[in-house]
This record gives sequence, structure tokens and C-alpha cells, in this order.
Amino acid sequence: MGTYEHIESALIHGGIYGDKTTGAVNTPIYQTSTYEQESLGKHKGYEYSRTGNPTRAALESLIAELERGTAGFAFASGMAAIAAVLSLLKSGDNVIISDNVYGGTFRILDKVWGNFGIGYKIVDTSDLTAVERAVTPDVKAILVETPSNPLLTITDLAGIARLAKKYGLLSIADNTFMTPYLQRPIEHGIDIVVHSATKYLGGHSDLIAGLVVVNDNSLAERLGFIQNATGGILQPFDSFLLIRSIKTLGIRMDRHVENAAHIADYLKAHEGVKKIYYPGFPDNSGYEINRQQAKNGGAMLSFELTEEHDIRIFFDELRLVALAESLGGVESLVCHPASMTHASIPQDIREKVGITERLIRLSVGIENIEDIRNDIEQAIKKSKRANS
Ligand SMILES: *Cc1c(COP(=O)(O)O)cnc(C)c1O
Repeated sequence: MGTYEHIESALIHGGIYGDKTTGAVNTPIYQTSTYEQESLGKHKGYEYSRTGNPTRAALESLIAELERGTAGFAFASGMAAIAAVLSLLKSGDNVIISDNVYGGTFRILDKVWGNFGIGYKIVDTSDLTAVERAVTPDVKAILVETPSNPLLTITDLAGIARLAKKYGLLSIADNTFMTPYLQRPIEHGIDIVVHSATKYLGGHSDLIAGLVVVNDNSLAERLGFIQNATGGILQPFDSFLLIRSIKTLGIRMDRHVENAAHIADYLKAHEGVKKIYYPGFPDNSGYEINRQQAKNGGAMLSFELTEEHDIRIFFDELRLVALAESLGGVESLVCHPASMTHASIPQDIREKVGITERLIRLSVGIENIEDIRNDIEQAIKKSKRANS
């Protein structure tokens, strides 16, 4: 660690910084699978790149520092990271998950780990009493997202960490929507942080990656073993890209959040908008808790247009804002959770938690705010049904 105190500097100087042999300010891309050994059993710390690679190690040390953990692990995708974390469980174990987690997290539990005897319980984790009620002897872990996807529900991280300690559970937080710039779950007592680095950390919609951070040596050892044994590692070039992206995370997030707050206000006041979910509104039920555990409300929001609007036309008419899965890129992206990101969740569960057919999720980009607002405005206008 260099001489700095603030996260804006850590984003740029954190972790293993630069290259000692040449003085290069950036960690080189060590595009190698193996490392020549001086003699039997004598090497420079690297033997094979599944096990360890210097470019990946630089990224892993950086994310560990940013999340205030002791060890970081980089994976080929957010799902590979989550799969590795869930590999800490064994047959007969159950995991509690938030009732609107990322669709892929639900899917891997429902369709893959279920085959190996690992169960799950869907709970509204914003309600700590409901979480405690769901803890049975076979529950071994709890995985939360806050704000959640796509309804931006807030879960009390310190409360979850307290419950986890009381019952001996692993607490896991998916910090994709906030990033360590806005929220650091380990500081609230959470054991494991996971990221889809594909989103804000990557930030340019040009790579797929996942990260895990832990704050305990025995957990680090177990996860390092799983990472090497199952092999879903991030490649050196993508590790380099991610280090490069993280340097600008702070200024990107500042602009994302500023734009999102503006769009949220605009939509809230719009007569064509029936409902809006945004953790930055003081009248949002999770506002106080979010304010205590995060820097601000982030840059994601979801909303429903009134029945007078045809949402298919709304999506078709957007010109600047792109209709696409994913989020957290510099460009504004909009999606229809019910048929896209959350299609793998059965319709009855979707409707029950509020992921309706009319729900629209918006990842506010860092374009000029007037351009974003004007695009949304004209699309809402054109989507209004003629007879209404
Ligand atoms: C996208 C996403 C994931 C999955 O990550 P990939 O990089 O797409 O594998 C997990 N959690 C959240 C909250 C996400 O948004």
C-alpha cells in the first residue's frame, strides 16, 4: 500500500502497483501459462497460471484492498465467482437468498446446485425477523444483494452479519450494484463479497469478469483451493483491462449517481410513471439503512409506466438509451427484467415480489444528462396509446 488515505487514490495506486523490474507504472500483461523453474521445487512464486498469474494477482490484491478484505480472487465471470463461493457448501446445506437476487444466482441454485443436494430459501432479506425465522439447522449461508436486482430493495448488512454470527452462517454480499466506491460490506461484518465485475468495475461493457473478497485466512485458503481446483479463472488480458477500468471507477460512479438522481427526480414527477424504485429517495423504505451503509443510492433505478403506455413501444422508440442486458457501463442501458435478466425466475415468484411485466430497469450512464432525459421523454411520449 502506498501513502494515501482515500479510496479515490486506492483505486489508482492500490494492490500490487506497477512493475518493479522496469518501473512501468502499469502491471504488464503476463500472457503466459507456465513459468520456468530454476531447479526442482525452486521457483519465483508462480508455477502455472491457473494457480497464479502476476497480472491476475495485481487485480486480486487491488480488489481485496478496495473492499477492505485480506484476499481477492478473480474469475471468468460473476457467475463463476458465485459458483466458487457456493462450492464452500456441501450436500444437505441450505442457503438463504434475497427474494429478488440476480436471475443467474437463482438459476444456479435452482438448476445446478440442487442436483448436488444444496437447497435454497427465498426470503425478503430487508426484513431481518423474516431472515431469522428462516434459519434452520441446515441453513449454512445467507446471500444478499443490496440494493437488490431489479427492485433496489435495501438489506441491512450489519443486521445480516449479526444474524450470521449468531447462528454460525457464512454471510455473502453481492456488491455489484454499489462497488467498493459506494459500499464495503466487509466493514459491516459480512464474510464474503462477490462482484460481477462485468458491470461498474469493468464499466465499459467490454468484458466479463467476477471477483470475490474475503476477510479471513481460512476462508481465503479454502477459496484459493476451489479457484485452482475448479479453474474458472480470469485471463491476464482481462485482468489488465479491469485494473485499467478500476482507476476511473470513482469519477465514473460520481457521474453515474449524479445522472441517476436527476433521472429519478424527473421520472418521479412524470404523470406517465406509475411507480419508481430508487434507493436515493428519502421516502424509500430502505433509505435510512442505505444511508448508514453506503455513500449514496447508486445509479440503478426501476420504474413502471402507467397502463396508458405501451412499454414495447417505449423500448422501440429509445434512440440513445440501449435496450440490452447488463448494467454499469458508461452508456445508458435499459432492460425488461421479466423477459430478460429475470426470465429464469418462475412467473408466480416474479409477480409476487413485484417484478411485473410492466417493470423497466434503467442503468443510467454517464452521457450528457439532457440527452438521456430527452431520449426517455420522447420515448414515453410516443409510447402513450392513441385512445387514452
Ligand atoms: C450480472 C450479475 C451477476 C452475474 O455476473 P456475470 O459477470 O454476468 O456472470 C451477478 N450478480 C449481479 C448482481 C449481476 O448484476
